[in-house]
Amino acid sequence: MKNIDILIIGAGISGATLAERYASAGKKVLIIEKRNHIAGNCYDYYDETGVLVSKYGAHLFHTNDEKVWEYVNRFADWYPWEHRVVARVDDKTVPIPVNITTVNTLFNENIQTEEEMQNWLEANRVAFEQPENGEEAVLNRVGTVLYEKMFKHYTKKQWDKFPEELHASVLERIPVRHNHDDRYFSDAHQALPKGGYTKLFENILNHPNITVLLNTDYFEVKDQYQGYEKLFYTGPVDRFFAFQDELMEKLEYRSINFVTEHLDQEYFQENSVVNYPGRDVDFTRIVEYKHFGNQQSAKTSIVKEFTVDEGEPYYPVPNEKNQLIYEKYKKKADQLEDVYFVGRLANYKYFNMDQAFRNALDLFETVEAGNLQLS
Ligand code: UDP
Repeated sequence: MKNIDILIIGAGISGATLAERYASAGKKVLIIEKRNHIAGNCYDYYDETGVLVSKYGAHLFHTNDEKVWEYVNRFADWYPWEHRVVARVDDKTVPIPVNITTVNTLFNENIQTEEEMQNWLEANRVAFEQPENGEEAVLNRVGTVLYEKMFKHYTKKQWDKFPEELHASVLERIPVRHNHDDRYFSDAHQALPKGGYTKLFENILNHPNITVLLNTDYFEVKDQYQGYEKLFYTGPVDRFFAFQDELMEKLEYRSINFVTEHLDQEYFQENSVVNYPGRDVDFTRIVEYKHFGNQQSAKTSIVKEFTVDEGEPYYPVPNEKNQLIYEKYKKKADQLEDVYFVGRLANYKYFNMDQAFRNALDLFETVEAGNLQLS
C-alpha cells in the first residue's frame, strides 16, 4: 500500500467525517467501501420520476448540537424542514408523537389546554419511576390504550420483539406532547441538505488527500492494505472479529426490505411518512419521498418498509442480551492498537445522524489531541 496514512472502512457519516478531518490535517486517506456508492445509508438519488429518493429509508436531520450544525453547514446549504408523521389507527389518521389531536381524534375527547392534556395522561398512564424496558417507558408516558394501538405491534414488526424485550431508550425516542405540536422532533435545527445527502457526502469527501475505493469488501483485500498509521472501521463490529474468532456469538441487527411502487398519480398520501402501527399489515410505514422539499412531479413513487432479520444491517437491537455480547467485542476492540471502531454498527449504538457526526468529530480530536494542525 503506497502512501496511505489513514485507512477507513466505510463511506458513511463516520467514515466520511474522519476522512475529511484527517485529509484537512494533511494526511493521505483511503476509504474502502463495500457498496457501489458513498454516503452509507444516507445515500439518495433522483429516480425515474425526477424525485430525490433515499435508497435506505428517509433521513431527517435534526440536532441541538451547534458544533455538528456548524460542521455540516460547511459542506451543503440546508433548507429548514420540520418532519411530521401521521399514523393510521382504527381507520383514523393521527399525529405521532402523541399530542392533543391524537387523543381527541382516537377517544372523541375535547381537550383544549395543556393542563387538560396533562390530566388525561395522568388518568391514563401507568407510572414507573424508572422504566426498565420499552413497554414500561410507553405505559409511563401514555398508558395502556395508546400503547396497544400505537406502539406494541409497530415495535413487534420493527424489531421482531415486543417493547418489553427492548431497552426503554428505544421507545423513549418518541416523546409525548402536551400541546398541539405535531413535529416529530423538537431540536433547534431541523433541515435537509439542498440537492440531497449524496451531494453533501461528495462535498465532504472532495479533497485531494482522499481516495475512495468502491465495490470493495475490505475483508477480501485486507492483506493488500497493511502498513497504515491508523485504521478506522465503521462496519458491524462482530464481522470484524468473525474472521479471527469463530466462537464469538453473533450480534443481532435488523434490516429493512424496501418495496417500491411507481404510481401513475400525483400523490398517494397526504404526508411524507405514514406509520401503520396495526397488525392488519406487515409493513411499518409508507414513505412518499416527493413530499420532502415539496418536490413536483406528475407521478409518484411510494416505499413500503418491511423490517427483516436478514440483509444489510441497519439497526443494532438494543437490549440486555446484545449489550452483553457487544461488551465482549468491545473488550477485544479496545485491545487493538491503532484500530478504532466508530459509528452505529461498529459501536452497536442506535445513533441518530447528528450523534454519528459528533462521535466521529470527537474521536478525531481525542485520538489526535495535540498531534495535528487542524484547519
Ligand atoms: N414506534 C412505535 N410506533 C410508531 C413509531 C415508533 O411503536 O408509530 C417505536 C418503535 O419501537 C420504533 C421506536 O419507537 O422502533 C423508535 O422510532 P423512530 O421513529 O425513532 O425509529 P427510526 O425512524 O429510527 O426507524
